[in-house]
Order: sequence, then structure tokens, then C-alpha cells
Amino acid sequence: MMRWQRVVLLILLVGLCGLCPHGLQAAQQKGLDIYFIDVEGGAATLIVTPQRESLLVDCGWPGERDPARIAKVAKEVAGLKQIDHLIITHWHTDHAGDVAQLMKVIPVKNFYDRGIPDPLPRDVSRQQIEIYRQATQGKSIPLKPGDEIKLKSGSVPLKLRVLASSGIVLGEPPHAPQTRPCDRGHAAMPEDTSDNARSIAFLLSFGNFDFFDAGDLTWNVEHKLVCPTNLVGTVDVYQVTHHGMDISNNPVLMQALQPRVAIMNNGPRKGGAAKTYARLKSVQGLEDIFQLHRNVQTTEEDNAPPAFVANDEENCQGEFIHLSVDPTGQTYTVAVPSKGTRRSYQTR
Ligand SMILES: [Zn+2]
Repeated sequence: MMRWQRVVLLILLVGLCGLCPHGLQAAQQKGLDIYFIDVEGGAATLIVTPQRESLLVDCGWPGERDPARIAKVAKEVAGLKQIDHLIITHWHTDHAGDVAQLMKVIPVKNFYDRGIPDPLPRDVSRQQIEIYRQATQGKSIPLKPGDEIKLKSGSVPLKLRVLASSGIVLGEPPHAPQTRPCDRGHAAMPEDTSDNARSIAFLLSFGNFDFFDAGDLTWNVEHKLVCPTNLVGTVDVYQVTHHGMDISNNPVLMQALQPRVAIMNNGPRKGGAAKTYARLKSVQGLEDIFQLHRNVQTTEEDNAPPAFVANDEENCQGEFIHLSVDPTGQTYTVAVPSKGTRRSYQTR
């Protein structure tokens, strides 16, 4: 390189560096992203914080399909190289998936769950638990109500707090009964002895934005979360519990949470119950319902409008839903990329 060329290059570099702080600032000012990955009636919710820390809540069904779908969204859409934290809300097959297979396609660093029951109940797969034990090398962290997962926070506060786990809600002693004699128009269902009732439920807060995910928590425990005291508060976005089944999504809970947006991780023939859809529509202040799948077994009136549904057909491409919260935590957008849909909302 000639001397004059070097001088020109230096001037150019100095000029460019003048832009560096702005460029860096723009890169640093990221918001919060949540991807609802289609695992066809299972759960896989990927949270990416402004500091680009990643947290996967549940990992779909065993087999290769769901780990591949999770890795695709994580790497190609979210630009991640690894999953920093994996929470398994409860031990059913459609949530605990196959962690060993997942780790073949993307590294996973930290593991959290509701604790491994001993002895194992009949609705928990011994094989799945063994795979999990081996994959995590016994280093998973059991979460109880009140626990927080420490996430790196920027200038806008970010917090993930557990509100229910193993059938116990915040403030209750261990082995508290599943039903609570507290009214608010609630009619208890028969005791749910399945692992669903023991799901982890948590609240993720970023600035003014609040997101509630309760895995497959069922009716009676949902009620304890809001009666006599609302332990959750109001939220912006409600992940429709238990894929939209009607033994979950207690209206007493949903009315107390007052979500503006509901996002349902149903499958074409699982969840998305007509009753749940009707209950959601009657929640005061709820503006939009998004679904990963059209329920092919119910009518058009029992499904969200097509623009709000990521996958129309049973034989689908596994399209996802993307929620993004702006860097200040004041507004958020829900996108259905397969339909070109984008809707923006103010936090409450
Ligand atoms: Zn489930």
C-alpha cells in the first residue's frame, strides 16, 4: 500500500469510528424477545433477554423433530449459539421432550425443574427421567415458589419469579391442599393427581411488560394463585395454559390477570378447546388471541382469525410466533411471520 493510500485509509477509519458509539449503542439497545415454537401440542417457549441471555421453557416431544425446530429458531432467527437456561415446567412427555437429543443440536448450560419426584408417579416416564438425569449429570436446580432465575439486567429491570411449583403456590406450606375454600365465583374441579397440577408457573417482568407462563397448571391450583390474593398481578401477555385445554385456564385466574394478548401453544388436534376460546374472549380488556395451530376439530368461530394463526393445516411447516418487547419495556409487538401479521400494543 502506498503511503498516501495509508493516510486515506486512516482518515476513513477515524471517520467510521466517529460513528462507532452510535453503532454500538444501537446494537446494545436490544429488547426482550419471546418465540413460541411450534411443537404440535407440546411446549417450547424461547425467551431471549436484552443482554442476549437465553431461556427455553420446555422442549417439546421426544424425537428429532422438536429439538430441530427449537435449534432452528434459536440459531437462525434469534442468532443464539447456546441455550443458557432450560426450565422443564413438569414431567409430561410433551414438555420434558428429550434433553439429550436437544443437546446434540444446541448446547444447554443450566437446568431447572420442579424437582424429580421419588417414587415416580405413574404419569411420569422413567425412561424420560433417566435421559434427563444423564444429560444434566444430576445438576438440575429444583425451583420452588418465590425462587428467581438470576438474569443479567441492563438499565431496565428484568426479573423471572416462580409463583407455583409442585402444586404449591407462593406463601403456602409444603403439602398444602390443592383446593382452597375461597370463593370469587370459583367451582373447584375434582382433585387433579397428575403432574399437570404440579407445573411451574412464573412471571417474567421486563420494565412495564409482564408475561405469565404456567405450563400445564390446572384449575384448582390456578385458583389458588389469585384467591384470596392475586399473587400474579395483571399481565400483558398470557401464554394460554395447557395448550388451551378446558381443565385449565380457570376464568377466575384469567379475569384477575387481565391480559391484553393471549398466545396459545396448541396442536391441530390438541388443546384449543372451544370452551377455552370462549372464556378467553370474555376476559375483560383482552384484545387479541394468537394460536400456533388452527384447531381442525372445531369451527371457524372457535378459532382466532387466520391472520393470528401460525399454522392452518395439520401437515404443517412448524411456523412460530414472535413477541418482541421494545428496549424500554413500554410497547410490544406480536408477529406471525408465516402470515405477515404484526400487531403492536402498549404495556399496561
Ligand atoms: Zn402439555
